[in-house]
Amino acid sequence: MRIGAHMSAAGGVHNAFQRGKDATCQSILVFTKSNRQWKAKPLTAEDIADFKQAEAEHADIFPVAVHASYLINIGSPKPELWEKSYQGLKVEVERAAAFGIPYLVFHPGSYVKSDEAMGLESIARGLRRLLEETAESAPNTIICLETMAGQGTNLGSSFEQLAALLEKAGPSDRLGICFDTCHVFAAGYDIRTPEAYRETMSEFDRIVGLDKIKCFHFNDSKFELGQNKDRHAHIGDGYIGREGFANFLNDPRWENHPAHLETPKVETAEDGSEIEMDQVNLAVLRELIK
Ligand SMILES: [Zn+2]
Ligand SMILES: [Zn+2]
Repeated sequence: MRIGAHMSAAGGVHNAFQRGKDATCQSILVFTKSNRQWKAKPLTAEDIADFKQAEAEHADIFPVAVHASYLINIGSPKPELWEKSYQGLKVEVERAAAFGIPYLVFHPGSYVKSDEAMGLESIARGLRRLLEETAESAPNTIICLETMAGQGTNLGSSFEQLAALLEKAGPSDRLGICFDTCHVFAAGYDIRTPEAYRETMSEFDRIVGLDKIKCFHFNDSKFELGQNKDRHAHIGDGYIGREGFANFLNDPRWENHPAHLETPKVETAEDGSEIEMDQVNLAVLRELIK
């Protein structure tokens, strides 16, 4: 697999490449705008040129994936928030495309005060419109629904919900899945042993299709299986454990797939010094490759 981590885009998205290199990433995940604000400064020709240059200078770091803003909720029953979310998601897809980035990952959405069926309908309606309206502006950017932990009214935590969304919105080659290990585990799917992993992946294949998986988020979980809690732990420090990650890393089906850490960046050592944790987590992952 091509393992890496979420990297800061402070000062420009192009800076994420050097940060990724310093952290020993083979692939990186970035925000292309502030993840907690709706507004984004439009990209300039210089932003794109800086990115292309950094990408060429770090030819060993690929592919790049974008994570969309956390504010977006196209599962919302409120028309105003839905439209704002839709437009926000469209901007994210088009910004990714402008950089030539192949994957845009987003959280499918929450149904809030409506219900599951209405939430799924709202998300599918957004995706259908998105596929149509970005067919020319972002033909090569795959929109990936992230598997969710099932907190609150979040949709996309069950394989059935993901399959329903892909079917209602598509079918389209421009739709895919980002498989987050912590979220899937929190949603009740075991991946800790080779047997559990095989069973979960064959269930995913039966319901969604393994070919839909385009990228992974590698996070251990601070909570036990099926707790629906989205709390990321360092690799091997949570309830998934190292063997869970070894199952993915040694599965030839994922040989060329990117997997990104979304775990805390720094921890304080006993002597008070700071430890860069991405490097530590990536080293743990590399040890697990047979
Ligand atoms: Zn996410
Ligand atoms: Zn994630």
